[in-house]
Amino acid sequence: MNYQEIISKQVTAVPRSGIRDFFELVIGRDDVISLGVGEPDFSTPWNVREAAIYSLEKGNTTYTSNLGLLSLRQAIAGYVKDFFAVDYDPSNEVLITVGVSEAIDLALRALLNPGDEVIYHAPCYVSYSPSVVMAYGKAVEVSTRKEDGFALTPEAVQAAITERSKVLMLNFPTNPTGAVCTKEQLEGIAKIAVENNLIVLTDEIYSELRYDDEKHVSIASLPGMRERTVLLHGFSKAFAMTGFRLGYSCAPRALTEAMMKIHQYSMLCAPITSQAAALEALENPITMERVEEMRLDYKRRRDFVVRRLNEMGLECHSPGGAFYVFPDISKYGLTSKEFAMRLLEEENVAAVPGDAFGEGGEGFLRCCYATAFDLLEQAMDKMEAFVKRL
Ligand code: PLP
Repeated sequence: MNYQEIISKQVTAVPRSGIRDFFELVIGRDDVISLGVGEPDFSTPWNVREAAIYSLEKGNTTYTSNLGLLSLRQAIAGYVKDFFAVDYDPSNEVLITVGVSEAIDLALRALLNPGDEVIYHAPCYVSYSPSVVMAYGKAVEVSTRKEDGFALTPEAVQAAITERSKVLMLNFPTNPTGAVCTKEQLEGIAKIAVENNLIVLTDEIYSELRYDDEKHVSIASLPGMRERTVLLHGFSKAFAMTGFRLGYSCAPRALTEAMMKIHQYSMLCAPITSQAAALEALENPITMERVEEMRLDYKRRRDFVVRRLNEMGLECHSPGGAFYVFPDISKYGLTSKEFAMRLLEEENVAAVPGDAFGEGGEGFLRCCYATAFDLLEQAMDKMEAFVKRL
């Protein structure tokens, strides 16, 4: 059988995730310190795990409404109103999904006709461009720059606009750079979105994990934006709930309905046990205390890693959020892949080559600092020894 001819062209067109490819190499090696996969090293807060167990004990093992449990949608609408200052109707503007990953896919499939252009900033999360391609869209990459702290400027967005531009994807704080945008930058971008009738998908998954003194601003809260924005958020990162696979979208009713149709036929609903856990996460104030403790711990780790990297000569801005640093390794004359491979082989430290996050990531390395402090100390010592030899 010639499977190449059988498999869909859209699927053939997208590469495998560079992160996964790199980590296949890590599996099977002993004593590797991993600064690789972007997930919290904390367990989910105990009250949340207990709520999941209790839900199972009670025998709650059924489907839920396609949109998700109404009680959870109400809790999400309340949380989003307090945290992002945007009001959504839980009865028809909130959709509970299997992670933000599913929500990204639903939003793109609900919006795109073949050939519609989606502007996104890169380096960015690995799924954006493939998700656009698999939804028959055209992915238009706008490179952000180290000199701007990898923030997106309104000018860069403006330069990418064409007649086919339909969607703008944003992610602040950003995976892999930790970048944040100022309110002024977001206002400039919002103005362009309104002028060009763009729909904005804003992936706010790291929004609680900010370390500067600025309050997090969502573009959805800016004047004229609610009606053209799909706000995506979830429980994986700040709540340390990656394995629960729970996210959500908030969007005007017609967009939510369109996304729900795809979700209804492809996923039916998010798992009820995870929904019970998420409800506890939002309803019990103890959870936010745990989230704050984790945030402070990440901040301490960020400060340490940024200082050590800069001291050893790996220039690196201090990211405003998320749990990644993105040092510049270009001066050593190695590609990102070569650098990461040698670091792994010679020092047993795993970090992701920057080019996994788009062309603009070449010359950089993504190090995730959601790793225990003593391991970070060891990893920094090993990286220092490595760069001294280069
Ligand atoms: N969006 C961004 C920017 C991410 O970094 C990730 C995971 O790393 C996701 C979405 C996926 O999140 P979820 O676990 O909710 O599917």
